[in-house]
Amino acid sequence: MTFGILSKKDRLVLAPAITKVLTLSTFGIDLSKQSVYETLPRTLSKDAYDFVDTVSYFLSGKSMKEMSIHRILTGSNFIRDSVTQEQFENLVGKNEDPQQTESILKSILPSNLHASLQARLNSSFTSSSPLKNVASPITSIGRLATNSVDYPQGYPRKGLKSVLNAVLYSLPKTVGIKTECEVKRILVDDGRVVGVEADEMYYADMVIYTGFAKDLPSVIEDLPKSYIGDLNGIVRTKSLTIWLGLDKRLREFNYIGSEVWFKDNPYWAMPISNYDSSLAPEDKQLVGFAFVIDEKKSEKSETKKAYETIYRAIPNIEERVVMQHEQITIPEKAAVTIDGKFADIRTPIKNLYLAGTDTDSRSMGITRAAYSIVEMLGVLNEDGNLYQ
Ligand SMILES: Cc1cc2nc3c(=O)[nH]c(=O)nc-3n(C[C@H](O)[C@H](O)[C@H](O)COP(=O)(O)OP(=O)(O)OC[C@H]3O[C@@H](n4cnc5c(N)ncnc54)[C@H](O)[C@@H]3O)c2cc1C
Repeated sequence: MTFGILSKKDRLVLAPAITKVLTLSTFGIDLSKQSVYETLPRTLSKDAYDFVDTVSYFLSGKSMKEMSIHRILTGSNFIRDSVTQEQFENLVGKNEDPQQTESILKSILPSNLHASLQARLNSSFTSSSPLKNVASPITSIGRLATNSVDYPQGYPRKGLKSVLNAVLYSLPKTVGIKTECEVKRILVDDGRVVGVEADEMYYADMVIYTGFAKDLPSVIEDLPKSYIGDLNGIVRTKSLTIWLGLDKRLREFNYIGSEVWFKDNPYWAMPISNYDSSLAPEDKQLVGFAFVIDEKKSEKSETKKAYETIYRAIPNIEERVVMQHEQITIPEKAAVTIDGKFADIRTPIKNLYLAGTDTDSRSMGITRAAYSIVEMLGVLNEDGNLYQ
């Protein structure tokens, strides 16, 4: 996505506002409770507000009044919130109580500033970083001013299934996987997890739950009320993706990447068969349109409104449609909003841990799920459960 569609005046007004929050963030100021809306300069045009609101919806599923500015900074790569190889090794390395040698930074700065500065220094100067394409804040501001913040998008050939296949291929032979096997109950004895009940009983010293954290009380009895209350604070968002199969390739979708409609009922469109021609018959085209839908309204009325938006935005598409499919999902778990909660990795039950996107607010989608696993490994290590 590019800021190029905004007027030069809007971009000039936005640049110092972004610089300001980047600076605050660099010095360790917590911006997770500051909304995007309250950060925006009041002199922006209506188009700019609509654009930022749309970006907010697609980054968190919520509006710019509910989403934190921190989310924009991390979700748009303005600041880096990733884990370096060195940090990862520190998290999962065997705990052998190494002698603590305090860094110079740590000895002269308060702890919050030290951690933040250290991360910034690492991200800006570590040449061996595994995530080389993540922009440093300074270069990102430059790109905004010169109207070029868009990044090429990747799409795995054969879809997400190919990512799963790669993961499965990399697993050791000792790993067993059971699909179509729903866990009905997590078994607890004397405050400690002892297994799960699914198609049969599975006994274990440790259980990792990656389903919706909010649904945990439905598979486990006697969780403390305060804990259930916290889980209920997790905010979810529903999305609708409309897949349209077109009888020919349209000029409007003659690109690799995606396109955002940000006027009234925003959508995110992607002509997916341009990436992978096997996703549509020869000379035909498959295009996905993703919407965030209002949970208070019926799915039927939201779907109808979505079709109307597509047909209004691209008037000649309707007569080209030969296949249509609607998908309603919760694409990501906890929405990153100023009031929304996240689940802790540890639970009140000993050796029952949570992982997945309900436990981590960094990045999006699969990357966010991966971050949650890195953090979980760190917690298991702290608890002495990583190496048996
Ligand atoms: C249509 C769609 C498109 C997406 N596109 C992208 C994309 O292009 N890029 C990207 O990065 N992300 C994408 N995402 C988001 C990404 O898939 C999710 O953010 C990510 O998979 C979340 O990981 P997770 O581990 O938190 O949860 P999940 O992937 O949902 O994993 C939880 C697992 O737990 C299982 N489970 C839950 N309860 C039980 C139970 N009681 N018993 C047994 N098993 C249970 C579920 O079946 C599920 O397999 C997309 C999501 C959707 C829906």
